Amino acid sequence: MTFYDELIKHDWDTEENSIFNKTDRDVRIALSKERCTPEDFKALISPAAEPFLREMAKKAEELTLRRYGRTIQMYIPLYVSNHCSNSCVYCGFNCHNKIHRVKLEVDQVMEEIEVLKRWGFRHLLLVSGEAPRLTDADYYEKIVKAVRPHFAQISLEVQPLLTEEYARLVDAGISYVCVYQETYNERTYPDFHPRGQKANFRFRLETPDRCGTAGVNKIGIGALLGLQNWRTDSFFTALHLRYMERTHWRTKYSISLPRLRPHVGSFMPKDPISDRQMAQLICAYRIFDPEVDISLSTRESAEFRDMAMRIGVTTMSAASSTEPGGYASAPHKELEQFVINDGRSVEEMAVAIRAKGYEPVWKDWDEWM
Ligand code: SF4
Repeated sequence: MTFYDELIKHDWDTEENSIFNKTDRDVRIALSKERCTPEDFKALISPAAEPFLREMAKKAEELTLRRYGRTIQMYIPLYVSNHCSNSCVYCGFNCHNKIHRVKLEVDQVMEEIEVLKRWGFRHLLLVSGEAPRLTDADYYEKIVKAVRPHFAQISLEVQPLLTEEYARLVDAGISYVCVYQETYNERTYPDFHPRGQKANFRFRLETPDRCGTAGVNKIGIGALLGLQNWRTDSFFTALHLRYMERTHWRTKYSISLPRLRPHVGSFMPKDPISDRQMAQLICAYRIFDPEVDISLSTRESAEFRDMAMRIGVTTMSAASSTEPGGYASAPHKELEQFVINDGRSVEEMAVAIRAKGYEPVWKDWDEWM
């Protein structure tokens, strides 16, 4: 049994209608509970909950402070390759886009990490386009082994791999894998992911299950907000989270909320989510799951990120580049996956976090733990 077996019991349109039919009373019931069900989560993300945003933010802040204190975990993504054999319609690395392609070798990666270490980062997220013939598990293993002595935590955001490949990478030193389903709507998924391995909806959906079986310490899931109705995709993300926590209960979890950003290409979001709705969604996730790590990247504006740390976000990146080799050498804008929105330096970000009364944390665990 995997999450796919649970997902197919739900009809997308029925769940969407049910979210839009939630009432004030459903929202009040959800807000009064110690532990919310997926039905309560629907109420919290529904239009009926919009007038309750202040109350939701207060509850979300209290729950976050109780579990995480006034801390924000810091990480930095390192793009090792922008080769990709997929053609996701919303992405600048789409194989049809005529951009310069780069794959970093170990010595180039080491030049990048010298910069990141100087900036103070101890948590590194290795990111890559999905080109399994060029960047396979052997390649990632080589990179992980080279960078492992320099970082307290290594995370991976690359193409879905097999269970035994994840197990090998855990042995090499990764502790955290992020894999986003983009949309949980199996019917429309092929419209956005027409070719390559990513066209296989089920293989992607079952990746967190494979990570859990392989002993990955922490798993990140999420949907790309704007592809489909954001409320419905967020409901399925919450369902996925609950399933994972029940099935792979030794593992920790993280939710990301990537919003579609400008990129090379012309695809525009079908259902854009406003800042106010994003804030509602962050509060809803926190109330639904007081334990889950909530991560917000530099896709979001400085103003929004400064506000979001008060209502439930616990992990942030800073000074990110989305192009391979973008830290050690001068940036080449045409290599970017998407356009960064919060361009503050590491120092500026640390100052902004402290100004809100929070402490930036550069690593969240030690090897002996
Ligand atoms: S989203 Fe990922 S898989 Fe899709 S084109 Fe971009 S890099 Fe490739």
